[in-house]
Amino acid sequence: MIIDLRSDTVTKPTKGMLDAMFSAKVGDDVFREDPTVNELEECLAKMFGKPKALFFPSGSMANQTALKLHTNPGDQVICDKYAHIYNYEAGGASFNSGLSCKLIDGNRGMFTANQVIEAINPSEYYYSQTRLVEVENTTNKGGGACWNFEELKKIRTVCEENELGYHLDGARLWNALVAKNESAKQYGDIFDSISVCLSKGLGCPIGSVLIGDEDIMKNAIRVRKIFGGNMRQVGYLAAAALFALDNNVERLADDHKKAKEIEAELSNLSFIKKVEPVETNIVIFELQPNVDETSFVNQLKENNIYIIGMGGRKLRIVTHLDYTNEMHDKLLSVFRKNDFTNK
Ligand SMILES: *Cc1c(COP(=O)(O)O)cnc(C)c1O
Repeated sequence: MIIDLRSDTVTKPTKGMLDAMFSAKVGDDVFREDPTVNELEECLAKMFGKPKALFFPSGSMANQTALKLHTNPGDQVICDKYAHIYNYEAGGASFNSGLSCKLIDGNRGMFTANQVIEAINPSEYYYSQTRLVEVENTTNKGGGACWNFEELKKIRTVCEENELGYHLDGARLWNALVAKNESAKQYGDIFDSISVCLSKGLGCPIGSVLIGDEDIMKNAIRVRKIFGGNMRQVGYLAAAALFALDNNVERLADDHKKAKEIEAELSNLSFIKKVEPVETNIVIFELQPNVDETSFVNQLKENNIYIIGMGGRKLRIVTHLDYTNEMHDKLLSVFRKNDFTNK
C-alpha cells in the first residue's frame, strides 16, 4: 500500500469515471462540435452565473489565457508573493503577455483591499500601467487557506474604482466552497474571470475551465489556439469532469476532515515545530531544528508514505480522493510510533 500525499493531483480515475468517459458522445471541438465539451462549458458557465466558459488542458493555460485577455504588454498585474501565476507558471506572465507582477506581501497568500490600493501604480506615463488584480482561492503555497469573502468584495470595489480587471485562480475553489459553505454563483458575481481545475481535488485525469464575462471571453478561444491548446474529441475528458462535478465535490469535506486529524496528530509530536492552521486539504508543517528534512522524508518513504518538501524545513501533505481511511490510520500510527529526530 503506497500512501501518496504529495498532491491531490495523484488520483486515478475510478470505475464510475472511466465508464462515463468511455460512453461519452464526442465530436471535433475545433469545429465546436463536441457535445460533451459544450455541455461541460454550459454547465460551468451556468453554475457561476457567467455567459461563457472554455475547456483547457491545464490550469496554467487557463490562467495564462486570462492574463493575456485582461492586459497589454508592459502592463502590471497585482498578486500575492505566493501566487501560482508568479511562482509556478514558468514565468508565463512575462513570456506570454509581457507583464510584470506587483507582489503583495500577504498573509498565507491572501491580502487586503488596502494593500491593493497601495500596490496600484500612479497614472504618470513612466509607470507600468496596473491593469489586473489576481487572487487565488484556496491558496496553494499559503497552505489551502480560504479567503474571507467580504475582503474579496472590497477588492472588487477597488477594481471598479480603478478600472482594473479581477481574476480568480480557483484551481482549488471547490475546496473553499465546501469548507466555507459558499456558492460558485457568489464568486461569479464579483470576478470578471475565474479558472477552476478538475484534476486536483475532483479526481479527473486532466482539465481546467476558464469562466467569464462576454467581453473578456470573446477572444479566449483565439488565445487558447495561439498557446497551442486546440483540442479535438476531448468529450472523453469533459465527461470525466461532468462525472466529477456530480460525484466528487461534496466529498471534499472528507479530505478536509482527514487533514484536520493529521494537523491534530502532528501538533502533538515533539519533532514538529509548527503546523499551519488547516482549513481545507493541505497541511503544511515545519520540523524542529534537530530533525533532518531529507532523512525525515526518506524515513516516511521507507514506510511507503510520500510527501514533499517546500524548502525552509517546511513540508506539505495533501489529502485527496484516493487517500483511504485505512491509509489515514496507517499514516497517523507511523507518525505516532516513530522517532524522527537525528540519531
Ligand atoms: C495546480 C494549480 C494551478 C494549475 O496547474 P496546472 O498544473 O497547470 O494544471 C493553478 N493555480 C493553482 C493555485 C494551482 O494549485
